[in-house]
Amino acid sequence: MKTVKFKNGREDVSIGKIVCVGRNYAAHAKELGHTIEEFPVIFLKTASNVIYSGSPIIHPDYSNNLHHEVELVLFIGETIKNADTINAQRAIYGYAVGLDMTLRDLQNDFIKKGNPWTLSKSFDTSAVLSEIVIKDQYMLRGDETISLSVNGVTRQSTSIKNMIFSPVEIVKYISSKMTLEMGDLIFTGTPEGVGQVVRGDNIEASLENIGSISTNVI
Ligand code: MG
Repeated sequence: MKTVKFKNGREDVSIGKIVCVGRNYAAHAKELGHTIEEFPVIFLKTASNVIYSGSPIIHPDYSNNLHHEVELVLFIGETIKNADTINAQRAIYGYAVGLDMTLRDLQNDFIKKGNPWTLSKSFDTSAVLSEIVIKDQYMLRGDETISLSVNGVTRQSTSIKNMIFSPVEIVKYISSKMTLEMGDLIFTGTPEGVGQVVRGDNIEASLENIGSISTNVI
């Protein structure tokens, strides 16, 4: 059983479901040739997909195009269903920076065929996490810088204020479709600059005032 790890020594919590948002930065949707939807695209990863900073990403041998996507991750701390703004805000207990590792060749094939994205998004080591910072210790301003570099070269860097759907809007939307519970994680979408990594690459990612990730692709 995988657990959420907290920055300041709080007891670990089992990870529930991992709900991910796609196409949440206009410039990224554009770079992949997608239109902006009225509501975010939603898909899932599993708790067993999770690794923490310092552990390696294992490149699946059935893909030739593994992509990095750096994202703000929300930690849900209570059960909510059909949340209003106040309840959605309250249910977000903490934040992390995460990597939504993606098999872009499989995903493009699935999109073409109209099939689910599952196997392009959910595989061992496909969800990389920093430790969680609890909201009591740091309240997100909403304009923090999120960035990612590969082998020391910056690939993604922007302000999270460029998100189309805010964390509260995302939590409200997801909770209108499925109950969210303590231990659930939400990946909130990646900005522009996604790209391929290969075996031997080092990925460094950070979210200002929250945390950082360092991992190698093997
Ligand atoms: Mg993503």
